[in-house]
Amino acid sequence: MRLMTLTDGTESLLVDDRPVDDCLFAAPLPYGLTLDDAVAVRAREVEPGDLVVALTFEESGTRQVSHCPGPFPAAPRPPAACPCEGCAECDELDEWTLADHRRVADVAWRYVCLCPSERDEGCVIEPSNRPVIVVRAERVERAKATRKPIRRPFTAAWSVEVEAGSPEEAARLGAERVREQLGAMSTMRWSVSEAGGEPCTVTVPVAPEEVGA
Ligand SMILES: [Zn+2]
Ligand SMILES: [Zn+2]
Repeated sequence: MRLMTLTDGTESLLVDDRPVDDCLFAAPLPYGLTLDDAVAVRAREVEPGDLVVALTFEESGTRQVSHCPGPFPAAPRPPAACPCEGCAECDELDEWTLADHRRVADVAWRYVCLCPSERDEGCVIEPSNRPVIVVRAERVERAKATRKPIRRPFTAAWSVEVEAGSPEEAARLGAERVREQLGAMSTMRWSVSEAGGEPCTVTVPVAPEEVGA
């Protein structure tokens, strides 16, 4: 538990530690960042690249902090300028706007979309004066640059295409091709993936003495 004061000094909020005993919060903050690196700002003060780690809401007159299971880099913009083509959050805001035509002009300054909708998640639309907790982009970049990567499981795959009459023959031909090709190749293209990530292609030299030369 810590006390964070908004950068404009107008409000302080009590921020619980980030949960660790909840499967939603299996991952710690990235790049070795902690809440000590975070600051409380108003939603309208969030800047591109700031890492949003917690949102807030009001409950029976007190400010509550809600940690984001998946902290996300902010790409703030007025809701009307959001590339989202419609999500539950946008629809809700549209309803609010349509309920009273005078609100059309208000939306732009009253609300900010911190992050456009992605896959199954809607936009993150916050009232622009609501406190949110972020790690400033510059601090995130510094942590990224100095952080030693965490060792974690990867799958590295190299494949050959062969024509064969059975799996056994394909495997045998594959093995032959590997032997042939290893002699002739100077580089290998590997498909590397980690849990939950998209595979990427990495080219490395074949001969071990060339590695890290
Ligand atoms: Zn949006
Ligand atoms: Zn949306």
